[in-house]
Amino acid sequence: MPRSRYARSERLFAASSRILAGGVNSPVRAFKSVGGSPIFIERARGAQIEDADGHKYIDFVMSWGPLIHGHAPKGLLRELSRAAARGTSFGAPTELETRLAQRVAMLMPSMERVRFVSSGTEAAMSAVRVARAATKRDRIIKFEGCYHGHADPFLVQAGSGAMTLGVPTSPGVPAAAAADTLLARYNDLESVAQVVRRHRGTIAAIVVEPIAGNMGLVLPNDGFLQGLRSACDRDGIVLIFDEVISGFRASTGGAQELFGVRPDLTVLGKIIGGGLPVGAYGGRRAMMDLVAPAGPVYQAGTLSGNPLAMTAGLWSLQNLSQRLYKQMATLLAQLGGGLADGARDAGVPLQVNAFGSLLTPFFTDRPVRDYESALTADTARYGAFHREMLARGIYLPPSQFEAWFLSGAHTPRDVERTLRAARAAFKQC
Ligand SMILES: *Cc1c(COP(=O)(O)O)cnc(C)c1O
Repeated sequence: MPRSRYARSERLFAASSRILAGGVNSPVRAFKSVGGSPIFIERARGAQIEDADGHKYIDFVMSWGPLIHGHAPKGLLRELSRAAARGTSFGAPTELETRLAQRVAMLMPSMERVRFVSSGTEAAMSAVRVARAATKRDRIIKFEGCYHGHADPFLVQAGSGAMTLGVPTSPGVPAAAAADTLLARYNDLESVAQVVRRHRGTIAAIVVEPIAGNMGLVLPNDGFLQGLRSACDRDGIVLIFDEVISGFRASTGGAQELFGVRPDLTVLGKIIGGGLPVGAYGGRRAMMDLVAPAGPVYQAGTLSGNPLAMTAGLWSLQNLSQRLYKQMATLLAQLGGGLADGARDAGVPLQVNAFGSLLTPFFTDRPVRDYESALTADTARYGAFHREMLARGIYLPPSQFEAWFLSGAHTPRDVERTLRAARAAFKQC
């Protein structure tokens, strides 16, 4: 038998599978939805990653979003080594936390008060707790295909890993925890109005990804976010924007700046940590003042506001610029246009949803505006495309229902190489 191209990765996965649950620490990494064995990574720099077998790839996963400046930027490494030398964790306040919070509030003025946590999951879970306390109501509305981390109340037909694994509701979530989560359809204000009518006066929050990234990239229709704002205002409901992906990626001020809609609470993650574990939630002062120790809503974290994580977040936000967004948008237009052309020439049905520095090519001929239309995509075909691209040195998300991420480190040459590979790959799938 010929030696596999990925022999070392396969050996490492066999070893990890004997000790780690499923061999990985987050399900989508296991390549289950594209087939094959996951690639183990040795190192990365800029837009390039290198696997355990010595292959180099142009990376479009970029740690699932945080790395807007690319892998291992020199300036960040310098700041991190300085910070580490001063101590890696204190469990006591540092000035860094104030500085990062000030920077967040400057970029996103709706964040009048901020609380740092260590993941997007924690941030979303905590924001809902605050909304429930502020309204003295229990129910929340979420949208089919949106993902807000893995806290119990959100594992009701979630997107992302839960969706491709075909576990719309996870075992282990008590019926009671899911019972207060009501589902509506993305981009469908009528579905929201129906749910609100049926449960009037009992809904604490509407939680939404203002740009949806976890059923693949789906943009909000004109007026959708404004409509949610009005629905919340009419019924005393807290509007929570989960900007874990769109924050600092859609624009410096996130989707809320871009679409001119001010949420009551915002959930952040990914870019805000620059590749280290940071999440944040925040918003209206009166609501955030309910959080302990200012108020009675309990939420805490041993490593919250960790000095290394805050240092990476600060560096990451300080280095955002209009030039960066423009550069990524130009590359994205090339990439999106090129993928659509390549697919058409090969006779492969493809819908490219693209925005800013995010893109998902859906293998379907139907426009994708919500979860239902996303599910028309041919996941087996995406799997074949993924394998072909991997063999040609392009590392794509190992799932049809994820966004590809560009960074400031990607170059026009990277995009040209990717499109050459894609033309060949479309013909094989
Ligand atoms: C990634 C993500 C989360 C969860 O963040 P973790 O840091 O993985 O817990 C929540 N919401 C959205 C929109 C995300 O993309």
